[in-house]
Amino acid sequence: MARVGVFICHCGVNIAGKVDVARVAETIGRMSEVAFAQDYKFMCSSPGQKLVAEAIKEHGLNRVVVAACSPKMHLPTFQKTIARAGLNQYLLAMANIREQCSWVTEDREQATAKAIDLVRRQVRRVAHADPLDDVSVSLERTAVVIGGGVAGIQAALDIADGGRKVVLVEKSPSLGGRMAQLDETFPTLDCSQCILTPKMVEAAQHPNIEIRVNTTVKKVDGYVGNFEVTLERRATCVDETKCIACGLCVTKCPVKDAPDGFNAGLSTRPAIATPFPQAVPAIPVINREYCLKFTKDKCGACAKVCPAGAINYEDKGSEEKVKAGAIVVATGYQEMSPAVYTEYGGGTFPDVITGLQFERLVSSTGPTEGKLVRPSDGREPQTIVFVQCVGSRDPSKGHEYCSGVCCMYTAKHAMLYKHHVPDGNAYVSYIDIRSPGKDYEQFVRRAIEADDVKYIRGRAGKIQKLADGRYRVFTEDTLVGRPVAIDADMVVLASAVEPNADARQLAQTLNIAYDADGFYTEAHPKLKPVETATAGVFLAGACQGPKDIPASVQQGSAAAAKVLALFANETLRKSPQVAQVDASACTGCLTCAYVCHYSAIEEKQVAGRQVAFVVAGKCQGCGACAAACKNKAVTLAQFSDDEVFEEMMR
Ligand code: FAD
Ligand code: SF4
Ligand code: SF4
Repeated sequence: MARVGVFICHCGVNIAGKVDVARVAETIGRMSEVAFAQDYKFMCSSPGQKLVAEAIKEHGLNRVVVAACSPKMHLPTFQKTIARAGLNQYLLAMANIREQCSWVTEDREQATAKAIDLVRRQVRRVAHADPLDDVSVSLERTAVVIGGGVAGIQAALDIADGGRKVVLVEKSPSLGGRMAQLDETFPTLDCSQCILTPKMVEAAQHPNIEIRVNTTVKKVDGYVGNFEVTLERRATCVDETKCIACGLCVTKCPVKDAPDGFNAGLSTRPAIATPFPQAVPAIPVINREYCLKFTKDKCGACAKVCPAGAINYEDKGSEEKVKAGAIVVATGYQEMSPAVYTEYGGGTFPDVITGLQFERLVSSTGPTEGKLVRPSDGREPQTIVFVQCVGSRDPSKGHEYCSGVCCMYTAKHAMLYKHHVPDGNAYVSYIDIRSPGKDYEQFVRRAIEADDVKYIRGRAGKIQKLADGRYRVFTEDTLVGRPVAIDADMVVLASAVEPNADARQLAQTLNIAYDADGFYTEAHPKLKPVETATAGVFLAGACQGPKDIPASVQQGSAAAAKVLALFANETLRKSPQVAQVDASACTGCLTCAYVCHYSAIEEKQVAGRQVAFVVAGKCQGCGACAAACKNKAVTLAQFSDDEVFEEMMR
């Protein structure tokens, strides 16, 4: 017979301010199933938990209802409390009388009546609950990290240092991500490559890390602890296992006009090339759209000169399946194209460039070997204007959100310009300055005070190309309330940080959520910032929202810590809220398998008959199968007909 103990929390005034908790305890205490009912100020506090544990022993309780906040907050707290007092942790039910009652009901009488009703239903439900054991699931202690930018590299290194295997999957031919394209980095102005390449090399040399470049994720099956990730390597026409990275092929390739994505379109390169000198791995890739072998069926120079016989024009790409217990997504961002900003030239003015193009222009590995000159005529710009918020905080053409890094990198760009051209004039057109990071405000002040960068508060309205090849930037100074026009040799647009073009597709492959802007959604914005709603899939870096390098590295390490905590166990313990098939009632029609979204139902032979069988590790407890089975052969633990009907009945 059920002896239910009911514990009603005040949650300070959160609940007690609207609900007459003493009346709830008294009314519920009269139910035949209830052996004890008590209200208390903070049930989750140590004394509150002690009260629950002592009452279980003192009153011989065999079921517990806690009426408090959402079970999302404190279900595990009270499960552990009753387990410590000797009860099975699944003989607990929570009535949410805060979010579902006191916070949303104005009238005290109504709130109290509603609370009584909510608690009563849980008492009747829990009276029919059965004790359950956690399900034990096998665990593959290898992680797949998707994206080889600084966030992904950091996550991979930390997991690998923790003694676990990592497969690091990178879409492009090299690790490094956007950080590899940067020249110097705020707020310390240290050389980006100098701090990044040691990490790239360390990842490549780490015995626990396997790198797959030119590779994307095609499919993900399975569940936390047991994912099967199908990787797709695109055809590069260079055999990575044979190439000795001598670079001969690159020097002999007669094609010189293939686009150079690494230099953000400011230069071209041969049809076979490595993306940049410090690339890891430094193995070249053939661009088939430009290679004469593919476009005209002639040439073949690279194959002739390659001493390692690494060129393979027949390469069709390949697929590989990797078993992994966890996945870290670190796919970063792309820079928004300013094409829609026709008032700024829409990308057609040669000396109106983006932030990333400016980075390449001042970089010693860039198209001009670090000489800051105009792309149109190679002249050093005497006056330069930096325009902030191009595509950020602009719902009409770009995005509503702030890109987070542009205020800082614009200050950096203006400083770098003044270091290259000390007697030049640098202007920044801005809406306001956002510099909340450590030492960031001082960095911006340094640009203004030490480097004499002139900040003009106002959004630039138009850029006009002048007959002499210069550009007139029309803006306004809102601080003094007058229009301003600046004639400049060059303009740099701080283009928004936005999700990659393929971000949504990858989210669907991984079954993770994304927000209205296309950035991946964390499980909880404050308390679970690197988890996703899909167990075992974690986020790191700018794929979750615009982020600078320190924040991306922090998230990489945080995601790695989560993976290592998961991998600290031999097996995974999983909630027993999974479906069960009664083989004697099952006719083997497999309707349940058809409706299951998680492929958790398989067929099995029992006494010479085909019946359905639930793979507990895959089952997510959604209950679709139980609802679909015409023979009532499937039951979802904790959702038996008795439990559900008792909760529903008045
Ligand atoms: P990324 O650097 O974007 O790396 C993501 C990686 O994932 C890439 O290698 C990409 O090829 C790969 N990838 C993408 N999709 C897939 C897929 N589907 N499958 C496999 N791989 C995939 N921050 C600073 O702190 N200091 C600075 O000075 C600074 N300057 C900046 C200047 C500019 C102009 C810009 C635009 C940004 C600047 N930033 C700066 C921000 C910095 O670039 C980011 O913080 C950092 O690059 C984020 O790292 P990440 O690893 O999250 O993403
Ligand atoms: Fe260049 Fe293609 Fe000729 Fe090789 S075959 S050298 S990649 S054009
Ligand atoms: Fe690699 Fe051959 Fe090119 Fe040398 S010539 S970089 S070995 S593909």
